[in-house]
Amino acid sequence: MSKIDVFSNAMQQLEHAYKYLEVSNDAKAVLAQPKRITETSIPIRMGNGSLKVFTGYRVLYNDARGPGKGGIRFHPGVNLSEVKALAFWMTIKTAVMGIPFGGGKGGVIVNPKELSKHELEHVSRGFIRGVADAIGPDVDVPAPDVYTNPMIMGWMADEYATITRKYQPAVITGKPLPMGGSEGRGEATAKGAYHVLMEAIKALEMDAKKSTVAIQGFGNAGYNLAKMLHEEGFTVIGLSDSKGAVCKMDGLDPEHAMRAKKEKGSVNDIYEKGSVADEKGCKHITNEELIELDVDILVPAALENVITKENAAKVKAKIVLEVANGPTTPEADKILYDKGILVIPDVLANAGGVTVSYFEWVQNRQGYYWTEDEVFDKLKPIMVREFKNIYSLMQENDGMMMRDAAFVHAIKRIVAAIEAKGTEADYKV
Ligand code: NAD
Repeated sequence: MSKIDVFSNAMQQLEHAYKYLEVSNDAKAVLAQPKRITETSIPIRMGNGSLKVFTGYRVLYNDARGPGKGGIRFHPGVNLSEVKALAFWMTIKTAVMGIPFGGGKGGVIVNPKELSKHELEHVSRGFIRGVADAIGPDVDVPAPDVYTNPMIMGWMADEYATITRKYQPAVITGKPLPMGGSEGRGEATAKGAYHVLMEAIKALEMDAKKSTVAIQGFGNAGYNLAKMLHEEGFTVIGLSDSKGAVCKMDGLDPEHAMRAKKEKGSVNDIYEKGSVADEKGCKHITNEELIELDVDILVPAALENVITKENAAKVKAKIVLEVANGPTTPEADKILYDKGILVIPDVLANAGGVTVSYFEWVQNRQGYYWTEDEVFDKLKPIMVREFKNIYSLMQENDGMMMRDAAFVHAIKRIVAAIEAKGTEADYKV
């Protein structure tokens, strides 16, 4: 999906935001590159006796505001540029939300679908052995991302405890509940996206019950959001996963689509070709066609660079809710902006996940656990507060994109932490 250099996209976004801010050269220099890159090779004895060596990365982008924070992705397309970009966006995201973390990210070049469970466990534990010195509750705190899940986080936390000979659940978030996970972490990203979408709907004076939605990606984030929007009365017209997309003008039931995915392998199997539902207007389409569907809200919730200069002009939605990280290229951003589409940027739209990860880290450190209601009651005001902060910053600066407003809001917080230790001006004699 991505031949585009993702890190240079991220740096272009940063440069774009600098236009609205006074930032010292010192802070700019610090933010132009990651603080630390760890690359590790992970040799695994496969089930058939052969040895396979996987490559993994952990990037700590910046820790001026607190320890690094960010997920670990298992995907064959992982590359260092992508991990650096994702770690940078995490630095922005934690600052957007005002939570006391910097930004980090990890990735392993692997197709987990080709591994047995034992092999997957060995890769997960091997990755932690490779990066153990670069992570820790006060250093850099990983979490799940694409194709990693609570069980994998559990293996990783266990491996870290074995290496350090200490129970340290706060080293990683998104863990299973019995290992110190937080209530609500599974739905947190979707819940956060839901709250900011509801604020945007209010701001644009739209009606949820008359709004249509298409969601690309039907994993943790995409599925949970689809379910919440369906329950709220939105009509979910399009859904997709890596195997294809499906659309039905009078609405799809996300639970039904999940059953199809579990039982037959894809959301695209929700209706058999030629079935009654098929005749009622269910169409099997491509992921590219899903982006161009005539809907009010488009939600990329899979991988990056799916809205590009090639297809942006064909996007018909009024709101693009970026649940995936980096789904819109800078050229596409400009095209969407010129069309009057509100792009709710990833660093805000999907920040519910990292916010509840922060709650998990807090609970681990205090050894005192909250109920799901307590978690969600604490999440909502933060999502709403930061949506309002960013939306009003955008409105105060005529012509500002919401992404720039989010970046400006975040960069002010990061730069304040970098500059608190002094800038060039403080050293002039
Ligand atoms: P996941 O692994 O649970 O699901 C990914 C989904 O994307 C799957 O349904 C998969 O089939 C689909 N997919 C993969 N390749 C695709 C393709 N080429 N076209 C269409 N669909 C494709 O992952 P997730 O946790 O839901 O994460 C999805 C996105 O949200 C990622 O960009 C991730 O970085 C971002 N995100 C997730 C979280 C979280 O807490 N889960 C938090 C913040 C951001």
